[in-house]
Amino acid sequence: MAEIQLRNLSKRWGNFVGVDKFDLTIADREFLVLLGPSGCGKTTTMRMIAGLETATEGDILIDGKRVNDLEPKDRDISMVFQSYGLYPNMNVFENIRFPLKVRKIDPATHKDRVMRAAEMVELEPFLHRKPAELSGGQRQRVALARAIVREPNAFLMDEPLSNLDAKLRVSTRAQIKNLSHELKVTTVYVTHDQIEAMTLADRVVVMEKGVIQQVGSPTEIYDRPANTFVASFIGNPAMNLIDGEIQDGTFRCARTEIASLTGANGPVTLGFRAEDAQVVESGGQITAPVYTMELLGDASMISVRIGGALVSVKAHKDFRIEIDEPVSIAVPSEICHLFDRKTGARIG
Ligand code: ATP
Repeated sequence: MAEIQLRNLSKRWGNFVGVDKFDLTIADREFLVLLGPSGCGKTTTMRMIAGLETATEGDILIDGKRVNDLEPKDRDISMVFQSYGLYPNMNVFENIRFPLKVRKIDPATHKDRVMRAAEMVELEPFLHRKPAELSGGQRQRVALARAIVREPNAFLMDEPLSNLDAKLRVSTRAQIKNLSHELKVTTVYVTHDQIEAMTLADRVVVMEKGVIQQVGSPTEIYDRPANTFVASFIGNPAMNLIDGEIQDGTFRCARTEIASLTGANGPVTLGFRAEDAQVVESGGQITAPVYTMELLGDASMISVRIGGALVSVKAHKDFRIEIDEPVSIAVPSEICHLFDRKTGARIG
């Protein structure tokens, strides 16, 4: 088993703060995803867990034992990177076996263990090939098998799918999900792709500028984003966000009037998801000329401009409307999220 505790973990280079007081316990067997835009500190956090980066402050505990001063090789953690890190002169079998040799594990067990790992990622037909003779997806599976073969206490995966094309990304993602179910090993997975995060994670940690913005299950993060940063990072399209004022329970801004909101009078940012709103014949809370219409296959996406913001609503796939034609959008108070206009924090 492996529970990983990160206590007030920080990394600074001079005055620059890469990771700021990261405080979290990753449960044994949990699949935890670190999600955030480029440069938010995901990789640095993971490298500190692996021991490839020293923490400026804070503690890392694995199963209650402080490991800050342990060498990476003594932490019993397997890493998978976006660049596969395979040895070009070794074939697939030898690449997968390599960690067993390094760790001086009884050679009599190697063949069985390599075959089991290869089977899990469906690599049996390719064991004699060199990495150069494999596709990107097959190479990534060799990297996965090499991580699995060690039977480590934890996996760290840094954007393992980012070099794969869209279709292969979906199938390899499914394979990782299935593997994690089979192996039940604590996993920390770094990505900037919110769909990967939502589909793989038990819990997601959303980060920005080195700081944790929210920790929760994919559903919690989607349904109740803690602030406007999380709201605008999760979901496709991102949550619609409109700056306006609440007076006596009614939110107003250009072309928008939404009644029955509970919130103090004053400036707020109002949010709602494109799939929660509806195009109606008339009488919607937003009425504005159409800015664009996009056909998504399973739906049509209608966008209007409100103040400086682009606001989208999903309509039936057969719905058609022309640019500049007025559209009425129902945005009842029940689907609305409210955020503090200054801090971005959720207020309702
Ligand atoms: P990406 O998705 O692009 O990999 P990330 O969220 O993983 O981004 P990190 O690689 O953790 O981000 O980097 C966090 C911040 O720390 C970045 O602003 C980066 O420029 C900075 N940084 C990383 N390594 C160093 C270093 N050795 N010296 C100074 N700054 C660094």
